[in-house]
Amino acid sequence: MNSQWKPRTKAVHSGTRRSQYNEVSEAVFLTQGFVYESAEQAEARFQSLGDDEFIYARYGNPTVRMFEDRISALLGYEDCFACTSGMAAVSGALTALLKAGDHVVAARALFGSCLYVLEDILARFGVEITLVDGTDNAAWDAALRSDTRLVFFESISNPTLEVVDMCHVVKAAHAVGALVVVDDAMATPVYSYAQKCGADIAIISTTKHVDGQGRLLGGAICGSRELVRGPIETYMKHTGGAMNPFTAWTHLKALETIDLRVRAQSDAALEIAHALSDHPKLSAVRYPSHPGHPQHELAMSHSTSAGTVLALEVKGGKAACFKFLNALEIITISNNFADAKSIATHPATTTHQRLPQEQKDVLGISEGLVRLSVGLEDVSDIIADLRQALDMAG
Ligand SMILES: *Cc1c(COP(=O)(O)O)cnc(C)c1O
Repeated sequence: MNSQWKPRTKAVHSGTRRSQYNEVSEAVFLTQGFVYESAEQAEARFQSLGDDEFIYARYGNPTVRMFEDRISALLGYEDCFACTSGMAAVSGALTALLKAGDHVVAARALFGSCLYVLEDILARFGVEITLVDGTDNAAWDAALRSDTRLVFFESISNPTLEVVDMCHVVKAAHAVGALVVVDDAMATPVYSYAQKCGADIAIISTTKHVDGQGRLLGGAICGSRELVRGPIETYMKHTGGAMNPFTAWTHLKALETIDLRVRAQSDAALEIAHALSDHPKLSAVRYPSHPGHPQHELAMSHSTSAGTVLALEVKGGKAACFKFLNALEIITISNNFADAKSIATHPATTTHQRLPQEQKDVLGISEGLVRLSVGLEDVSDIIADLRQALDMAG
């Protein structure tokens, strides 16, 4: 698609394919299969599939292909494979690219399911994993070896908002011949800089900012055409993780507004961080766009915003924190993020409940930590809701 377009134009137009009816809005092709004009044509398609040819929806579908082209254009990558969920994308990409005997270096601050894929599944198949403090460049340098096949990390970690110095890690990984796979969910497709730093693969849970309204699960594996249409597509199409056409259609429509939504939500997140940064009931407000964040300069050197999620540390431990959460009136208690509705999550007792205490301590997942996903409500209402609930927090 037209590579000169600005991101907002790409998010509206890239990948569009029109049927014989020339519809304006993208069509949803709810079909598993495709009819061949002759037995010879069927034979030819099974021999080699052209760019706009399809044989079975587990391999590809026109609506899904439109979404793949649009999201890869937005992220700056050549191609993308769309998956049933963010975790289908993570487990698919890692399994497709690794084999027994390979060494992987990963940041320890990972989404729980990603840790399970690495430490339980891949380790079971003979992949060796080294976990490092993702914010420590020297730790990355020390862990990388000549047999390191792949490095994996979240560009901005969930829920503690640690920033990995991605350009440094990519350079160091490439120096030993390792591939870099980034879990880019928190960075948002609008502010992602994975491609600029040279990450080989960027994975996004499209459940988050792409859907943006808490409806559907999806994921995307973006990278060079060689990797995406090579080992990744081969693995995904045979193991059944392809996105369904209805999800792809909903995502296509959602991409038309992603820039407006994510910018508004991120601006509101910064406003909230400023408003609460020295609130007496909070011991910390963590948001990389805010100058008080220890990695503010690093985060802002690649992007104008760190996205729509911040973390608050409520004083007084779990009891005070639960009082605060239960007093919220607009902000809902849930565990997703990047919804149009603002959401508060208590990671220590929900998303990260199963982590052993030492690991929670190392990662900074305290009893007072609240992950706040900022929605599309009026920011003054969100701030007022947070203030009145903090007043109730003991
Ligand atoms: C949500 C999330 C995932 C998993 O995505 P699903 O769509 O829920 O499968 C993976 N990594 C990160 C960082 C996430 O936030």
